[in-house]
Amino acid sequence: MPSGKLDDYVVVGMIGSGSFGQCKKIRRICDGKVLVWKEINYKEMTESEKQQLVTEVNLLRELKHTHIVQYYDRIIDRSQSMLYIITEYCPGGDLATLISQHRHQRKLLPECFIWQVMHQILLALEECHRSKENVGGKVMHRDIKPANVFLDGEGQVKLGDFGLARILHNTSLAKTFVGTPYYMSPEQYSCNSYDHRSDLWSIGCLLYELCALKPPFVASSQYKLAEYVCNGRFSRIPSKYSDDLHWTISQLLHVKPEKRPLLSQLLSLLEEKIPLAKPP
Ligand code: ADP
Ligand code: MG
Repeated sequence: MPSGKLDDYVVVGMIGSGSFGQCKKIRRICDGKVLVWKEINYKEMTESEKQQLVTEVNLLRELKHTHIVQYYDRIIDRSQSMLYIITEYCPGGDLATLISQHRHQRKLLPECFIWQVMHQILLALEECHRSKENVGGKVMHRDIKPANVFLDGEGQVKLGDFGLARILHNTSLAKTFVGTPYYMSPEQYSCNSYDHRSDLWSIGCLLYELCALKPPFVASSQYKLAEYVCNGRFSRIPSKYSDDLHWTISQLLHVKPEKRPLLSQLLSLLEEKIPLAKPP
């Protein structure tokens, strides 16, 4: 599909300010469809950064799955050095917001929601791993965290911000970005290696945080955090949750990547547990 023009859309409202620009709710004029765009100013980027961005956006286009935020289009406005990435709108917001709301209200999320998030994120991840094989590259998501997982209007989970966050965080634009890497895996700390099993670690951290409303490993310094992560000890999730859920999350949080379950094993386990049949 050829890329559209800015005036194919109208801005309906502001959603939020991200680390690299604004995210706005828009409407496609031809059919009234509500979408979002992310505004990225590439003026300060180097040639190689821009190239990386193009590669990553092309990769986004390949991904089409119920549990992945759907990419629609990109628009380049050369006169302003602006790139607009247009995707599906997720009215349910992101999981980081949901977690902080629940933390403030001192309210725990229902267990069935946690299982549902687990199942749907793993399905999305399976699709990423599959599509990577298709394009022949080896690109992990690398940035699975609550702020990158969205909910649509029906409460379905959608994994978003593919690679984009990673690319952008590596550019000169990201110099001011400082985030605590709560979800960084032990293998990233110990030998700076990353593979698909590191994505499983991050999912373990995310599910843990959904239950406990705080990450499994918290420390006052990055140095301490690395130590805790590599020791791999964490408290049980709140007692309201079943041993089964705690055990399943713990499987993802094995310090040794080879001890983490395979995605396929996990999915078949979940498909046995979760009654998938939806009410008519
Ligand atoms: P960041 O760089 O901080 O991840 P984003 O541009 O991804 O910033 O997000 C900014 C705000 O827009 C966040 O509140 C996020 O929840 C929201 N947002 C991002 N993408 C979508 C989407 N597809 N649907 C709804 N809200 C979104
Ligand atoms: Mg984001």
